[in-house]
Amino acid sequence: MNAQTRKIYLCGPTLHSQIHIGNARSLVVFDEIVRKSPSAFYVRNITDVDDKILAKSGGTDPAQWVRENTLDQYRKDCAFLGLLPPTQEPFASDFIPEMVDLIQRLPTIERKDGLYFDTSKDAGYGSLSNRTSREPFCVWKYAPDDQWGWETEIGRGRPGWHTECAAMIRSIFNGQMIDLHGGGSDLKFPHHENEVAQCRCAQGHALAREWLHVGTVHMDGEKMSKSIGNVLTVEAISQDFDTETVREALLMTKPTKPFSMSLARLQEAEKRVSRRENQVAAA
Ligand SMILES: [Zn+2]
Repeated sequence: MNAQTRKIYLCGPTLHSQIHIGNARSLVVFDEIVRKSPSAFYVRNITDVDDKILAKSGGTDPAQWVRENTLDQYRKDCAFLGLLPPTQEPFASDFIPEMVDLIQRLPTIERKDGLYFDTSKDAGYGSLSNRTSREPFCVWKYAPDDQWGWETEIGRGRPGWHTECAAMIRSIFNGQMIDLHGGGSDLKFPHHENEVAQCRCAQGHALAREWLHVGTVHMDGEKMSKSIGNVLTVEAISQDFDTETVREALLMTKPTKPFSMSLARLQEAEKRVSRRENQVAAA
């Protein structure tokens, strides 16, 4: 990777369960960008350590749980979506020493349950999302004896999610500013705000030149949520529609705008794809 290489990072999914079409939209939008910029260095991580995964693994090794339970389906979903492999696909659990090293460079406050980033020490805090909240956020959570944790010089525990991405970006891109960073619009605050704050404090510069926050996908006008039971997984949609149709349905709207997924939308996407195929056949 030389200084001119376009450096792109997408916050990949947390594999506590299958991915849904909201996750798929970010993956497909970034796939389109990378296809237009083939020499880019594209990093798309896998979050295999977090509280939801730990809850599912019953307090045992979360990274192992992901490998045994959700990773195969995620690979199948990526293949169905027609995604090119990223240049690197780091697992958060493989970067624990890098996370510890980053945390040691940050202004932190120790609380009973872990180490927190002291947002009062970062003058620029809030500038990405225009929020005024200055809640300290957890960078290292201490593990109780009955729970999974890494033994490190900052204590036995596990990283906070915001630190995972910040440390992977810092390590893989050798501390350089990246060109494009993104993820779902729900990640802007607090996740991305907190990534930026850590970069500013540890590296003294902005994290990314440009951001792309991909709009939310609703289901028939409602927010997808497990409690309503309207989460459309990629596996489910792949039973009834093909890759081209699903990609078209995800790309039909400007990436930053939210939209609602519906049968009508998928049928419209199907029409557009076959119209395009007919045009190619006639040419
Ligand atoms: Zn991230």
